[in-house]
Amino acid sequence: MVIRSKHLCRRVLENQHKLCQFLQQQLRLCSSNAARPAAAFANQDEDTSIKITKQFTSTATSLLEPIEHAPNVGQQFSYSDLSVRLAAPHELQTKPDVDEMGFGKFFTDHMLKIFHHQSLGGWQKPEITPLENLVMHPAAKVFHYAVELFEGMKAYRGVDGKIRLFRPDMNMKRMNLTARRCGLPTFEGLELVKCLARLVSIDQEWVPHTECASLYIRPTLIGIEPTLGVASSDSALLYTILSPVGAYFGPKSTGGVSLLADPQYVRAWPGGAGDRKLGSNYAPTIYVQQAAAKKGLQQVLWLYGEDHELTEVGVMNVFMVYINDHGEKELITPPLNGLILPGVTRDSILELSRSWGQYKVREGKITMKMVKQLVKEERLLEIFGAGTACVVCPVQSINYLGEELHIPTLEQEKPVYEQLRVTMTDIQYGKMDHPWALVID
Ligand SMILES: *Cc1c(COP(=O)(O)O)cnc(C)c1O
Repeated sequence: MVIRSKHLCRRVLENQHKLCQFLQQQLRLCSSNAARPAAAFANQDEDTSIKITKQFTSTATSLLEPIEHAPNVGQQFSYSDLSVRLAAPHELQTKPDVDEMGFGKFFTDHMLKIFHHQSLGGWQKPEITPLENLVMHPAAKVFHYAVELFEGMKAYRGVDGKIRLFRPDMNMKRMNLTARRCGLPTFEGLELVKCLARLVSIDQEWVPHTECASLYIRPTLIGIEPTLGVASSDSALLYTILSPVGAYFGPKSTGGVSLLADPQYVRAWPGGAGDRKLGSNYAPTIYVQQAAAKKGLQQVLWLYGEDHELTEVGVMNVFMVYINDHGEKELITPPLNGLILPGVTRDSILELSRSWGQYKVREGKITMKMVKQLVKEERLLEIFGAGTACVVCPVQSINYLGEELHIPTLEQEKPVYEQLRVTMTDIQYGKMDHPWALVID
């Protein structure tokens, strides 16, 4: 008997790391309200990587165009070098309820980090770690010249329980274009998508089990060289955090938004960088957003130029549906002329509506004069914003030079924005099979 319990003791001690791992997994399961098995997570290089490399890679590869890197970028990072350090059980956060999620208030347990050091030959090995604070020198370029850029994408829990990304190739392409614009190193989009898929897979219980919410993915790239010269940064950090999000404008936002259109404020200009997702484009908009809020208005309609052309609404692309001079129904959005952020949602809306052929679709200039005239003649049907955060967001009124223009977006019988919202979410939540939706587990 004595011998036996000694033997048992030794066995327990020998295998305590396995026991820890087992308990850790159980704890993760308990902390989720999901019924699905979650065998894919903890074990480093087994299940998840197999899932990522097969169907996933072949689809993703076919979508991603190769990119040309500047010579000083040096070596690229690779998903195959990814290391994972999991959060300890006591570090795991409680998941919020859908109605308290809001936008970007809660974060998952893990993050992705990839350093770039020119002195070490380029990109370093990607690592997934517990979510933690970053430690940086106070002279790091990001703090002084806003050498920062970001992306916004989402992971959706489909009606079949599978998790999908929506056109991640588009985000990778845009992120590389933005990196180039501020002298930060470019990377292989497919390798980052695979790392992101793995991160989401590890934090998969954070992808809400509902169609009213999703997991927001925020890839971020910053210049961290600790010198004060306005020059390209010889060190950079690409990191990604994840945040479960509900409806962008809060739960009470079934109605349309009211906009301030004040031509004295400009978001982007020819030759500028308004068409890139640089952090420096957003800080100056906060003041204008506050000016709108003071007037009781919800968002800013960004105008440009002598003829007050519409460019964007808040941080969304803008669309209008109207009856054109030939009496036809037409969907119009401003062209990508350097003033417009090339939205993934914008591109998807154009492609879907063109394929339907139910109305004319055009990229063209929209001016406030045109909007006023169309409202007067009752030919303006809808105005809506479009972006990842909300898919589409109907507009109800525009405050322009002291005048309140009523936009009847919500009064249409079969509105275009609603048809687009339904189709887009059907694709994202796996109700409709579509090559834009990439299943990750
Ligand atoms: C991110 C963003 C958009 C929308 O882009 P999506 O890829 O559709 O999310 C539109 N306008 C601005 C200014 C943006 O920052």
